[in-house]
Amino acid sequence: MTAPQPRPTVPVPTPESAPTLTSAPEVFAGVDIGGTTTQVVLCTPELDVVDGHEVPTPAAEGGTAMVGAALDALRLLLARVPARLRAVGVGAAGLVDARAGRVLVASDSFHAWAGFEVTATMEAALGVPVFLDNDVNAFLRGEVARGAVADERHVLGMTLGTGVGGALWLDGALYDGPHGAAGETGHIPGFGDLPCTCGGRGHLETLASGRSITARYAERTGLDRSARAVAEAAGRGDPEALAVYEAAGAAVARAILITAGMLDVTTFVIGGGVSGAWALLEPSIRAALTAEPPVSGHPLRVVRAGLGTAAVAVGAASRARTEFREPRPPFRSLSEGINSATFKSG
Ligand SMILES: [Zn+2]
Repeated sequence: MTAPQPRPTVPVPTPESAPTLTSAPEVFAGVDIGGTTTQVVLCTPELDVVDGHEVPTPAAEGGTAMVGAALDALRLLLARVPARLRAVGVGAAGLVDARAGRVLVASDSFHAWAGFEVTATMEAALGVPVFLDNDVNAFLRGEVARGAVADERHVLGMTLGTGVGGALWLDGALYDGPHGAAGETGHIPGFGDLPCTCGGRGHLETLASGRSITARYAERTGLDRSARAVAEAAGRGDPEALAVYEAAGAAVARAILITAGMLDVTTFVIGGGVSGAWALLEPSIRAALTAEPPVSGHPLRVVRAGLGTAAVAVGAASRARTEFREPRPPFRSLSEGINSATFKSG
């Protein structure tokens, strides 16, 4: 393990320490702590992004270093934008306890991240309230706040990335369920019989994640190609590549129909790296929805995510703004009784 490097520290302006800033505009910060990069944005109360900064995530150095890198990026932004920081939202990969503000389960690529007290550490450093979300929940908050499904009230968000993540927005608010796992469409069975990364079989993720696109194409051709390279092959008319993306789109449509049938959700927003091949996915999604329309008789709205890589950070800022303005009573922690097999990965 490498020795921790001293990090430059810039004092955080607060109304108490910097009285000249009391007339400065208020901002909310959003932090996206991903496996490779950490993105920080400052947003107005209307969630317009004022400024942003991205740094590598020191995932191998542990939670203290990861949060330290995020704080340094935030301090840099606060030093160049005269503003009063009101609250901070954090979106983090893995299963998180959004009430207690700590990480519960993280993938192997993160060192000393599971169990890390994210919000307590950042609140101690910043002196403002900090709120933690799973990154897929934050993605959906961002898309509902300022993205492709702005102001929709009933939305399923899906991220087709390395894995398949899901999040649910019901009646105008995030619904994460008693264990924080609501909307977890990536790991519902009934999508074939292939082994899934979670240990189960036949989950949506075995057909629609980036890793699965690579694996399914390799089974057909013996070639090891990234999901993006498979998409490029499909664009050149490669029938095996087209079939892999068609199967992915049909599986996504099946998850959409299950959710629509169960909850009468009207709107679906699809993000993550694999959604970059929207021109390949969309036709098979539409074909499946046309072949088996929802029993409600109402058409479903299915759109590609609109905020790109900023969705998680903007969504985290959205959570901070909402909680700051409408504080909720304290929650009981979710830490007990969590099923460690279910965690979202974007
Ligand atoms: Zn699974």
